[in-house]
Amino acid sequence: MEKKNIMKKTGLGIIAILFAVKSFAGDPKNLKNTTMEKFDIHVFPALPYGYDALEPYIDARTMEIHYDRHHRAYFNNFTAAIKGTSLENSTIDQIFSKVSEAGDAVRNNGGGFYNHVFFWNNLAPKSAGPSAELTAALVKEFGSFDKFRELFGNSAKTRFGSGWAWLYVTADKRLAVGSTPNQDNPLMDVSAIKGTPLLTIDVWEHAYYLKYQNKRADYVEAFWKVVNWEEVSKRYNAAVK
Ligand code: MN
Repeated sequence: MEKKNIMKKTGLGIIAILFAVKSFAGDPKNLKNTTMEKFDIHVFPALPYGYDALEPYIDARTMEIHYDRHHRAYFNNFTAAIKGTSLENSTIDQIFSKVSEAGDAVRNNGGGFYNHVFFWNNLAPKSAGPSAELTAALVKEFGSFDKFRELFGNSAKTRFGSGWAWLYVTADKRLAVGSTPNQDNPLMDVSAIKGTPLLTIDVWEHAYYLKYQNKRADYVEAFWKVVNWEEVSKRYNAAVK
């Protein structure tokens, strides 16, 4: 009887530990990079929600592999690439602004690290609309919100191979839509499109293949259901300040 109780307690203890580990991974309180302005190049941040939070639009298995394997690998490889160099004491903006001098390992893995943190934070289980300010700016630049969605969606769908589509603010504070190949982003000196990113979608096959297979357009359509417009609107306000 006594042995049975110990077994029972040990079992509960293990469950408690497993629960604690699981909670840690998805607990927003443990997210180190709460804002992209305070991006810490030395921290692999927690996902701001659970793996299944974006179901059914983005499935839990895809989220787990994407975050815990792909994203983590970019972070680890980036950390290894900057180790012992002056880049260790730089901000991510400083690194990206001269990434052509830093080499492909920093460009690809630094981009892969940053872009995914940015992407996770512009997704949320409940999607409201953009702020009044951002809505007005989208209408002014693109004619209507639907027209913006169409242009951004086309940018995502037509990016050949792997890459990202972006809504960003240009140097003259205007909104623009475009895409980048591989793990490049609009903050990089090597990028054909340049500015302050507001919203992104990952169109690498690893982001959607398990659920959508080759149907990238269906994944892009589903993406709109889980856009964190509150975060995107905040980014907009900061970018045009
Ligand atoms: Mn990805």
